Amino acid sequence: MIKIENLYKNFGDLEVLKDINLEIDAGEVVVIIGPSGSGKSTVLRCINLLEELTSGQIYIEETPMDDPETDINLMRQKVGMVFQQFNLFPHKTSLENITLAPTKVKKLAEDEAENIAYELLDKVGLQDKADVYPAQLSGGQKQRIAIARALAMEPKVMLFDEPTSALDPEMVGEVLEVMGTLAQEGMTMAVVTHEMGFAREVGDRICFMDEGRIVETGPPTQIFDNPQEERTQEFLSKIL
Ligand code: ADP
Ligand code: MG
Repeated sequence: MIKIENLYKNFGDLEVLKDINLEIDAGEVVVIIGPSGSGKSTVLRCINLLEELTSGQIYIEETPMDDPETDINLMRQKVGMVFQQFNLFPHKTSLENITLAPTKVKKLAEDEAENIAYELLDKVGLQDKADVYPAQLSGGQKQRIAIARALAMEPKVMLFDEPTSALDPEMVGEVLEVMGTLAQEGMTMAVVTHEMGFAREVGDRICFMDEGRIVETGPPTQIFDNPQEERTQEFLSKIL
């Protein structure tokens, strides 16, 4: 579904990503862990070309993203993204937040978009919040709306960048639960998170990054119980 090939990313003189290679199969959940500044967000942002690639290539369903022939706006519709900061439109209701892109970008009819939105509100457990504005929602509810909004475009892949890091602890679980359900339903996902319980339970593969490189990748049991690389051991010993 996604193939990252020899990806390098510089910001000026700063080499932020150094030869990243990663494939994510359809239905697979890859969890990216690693210290702050190691390049996790930049990898996600490169996937839908929110960052210009310095070199290398990213393929989504075999289509090269960094290619003048590629309709990048069309490709971006295949990739849903959820950020730490929910980025909901404050002057729109939950329902309007969810129907906006489907009606404007995909040109769905209003009632069709609303039907999809109600289904998604149901999926994230917020049917009763359709007509409420973001300011009236808790952090966990906002993030669940943000997930529903991303899903409304029927993406092939979902990217999550620390979706629970800005939440009060009591709201982390409800968001992880929605993500776990999505994973169970077969969504292809790349998740940057510090929630190691989620990584272990839901992740098919864990990818440990440090200083712009993928240091080690493997199933959760390997990474958490038997890490092969010293830097992985060191990182985990600090956070577990
Ligand atoms: P992580 O998500 O793992 O914390 P990031 O991908 O956000 O790491 O950042 C990796 C490195 O790239 C950091 O050193 C960060 O300061 C730098 N960086 C990220 N975005 C930019 C940018 N737009 N301009 C310059 N440097 C950046
Ligand atoms: Mg980050």
